[in-house]
Amino acid sequence: MTTSVEQNVESHVFEADVARLLHMMVHSVYSDKDVFLRELISNAADACEKLRYEAIETPALLGSDAESRITLSLDEENRRLVVEDNGIGMQRDEMIEALGTIARSGTRAFMDRIAASKGGEGAQLIGQFGVGFYSCFMVADRVDVVSRHAGSDQASKWSSDGKGSYSVGPVDLAEAPERGTRIVLHLMEDAKKYTSRWTVERIVKEQSGHVPVAIRLIEKPD
Ligand code: ADP
Ligand code: MG
Repeated sequence: MTTSVEQNVESHVFEADVARLLHMMVHSVYSDKDVFLRELISNAADACEKLRYEAIETPALLGSDAESRITLSLDEENRRLVVEDNGIGMQRDEMIEALGTIARSGTRAFMDRIAASKGGEGAQLIGQFGVGFYSCFMVADRVDVVSRHAGSDQASKWSSDGKGSYSVGPVDLAEAPERGTRIVLHLMEDAKKYTSRWTVERIVKEQSGHVPVAIRLIEKPD
């Protein structure tokens, strides 16, 4: 027999203050801000791999541009760092799904590793493992993502200050990469060193040496 106390037990879902969660994630998960670049480069390389894979069945997706490429553009004057790839790209709905859902796969993988690790290892892992795309809000107060999916005649732009909301909408094809994704980081005042060739080269060598896609670095001519 169930008592009236047990009958009154309800199940609830945690509510989260997304803005606070983002703030915490961005400001306390990493001690080393440099890792944002590794995260963006790893996403760019993943996008190139996805395209290569899909092109096995649909070679037309490659068009006349078959060579995978990641380009880092440094714009010191406007305090911007741009990470662009010619990978698979994202449709509007994919942007909402992939960039608008916080702590999806990257963090899940992270939690799995924490769960699998023993003892004090977990704390070390926090410094090593990426929470992915959102780490760019450690260094940028606005991030614009412009993307055109392979084979699509439409492009979309996603934009956010990382504080809880984002906008998404169509963008002129002339303002988008021919294929793939361009991520524009509007760097915070104290993150302007990420427009220095020396700094960016060092981080790429240290953290992205294993990436199977060529990484180009260009300084915006002034
Ligand atoms: P993860 O890489 O572990 O999936 P991220 O937070 O790094 O997590 O990225 C979230 C998702 O956003 C990716 O899984 C992918 O679907 C999408 N994404 C991010 N960057 C790109 C990119 N440059 N090109 C295509 N899709 C991307
Ligand atoms: Mg990632």
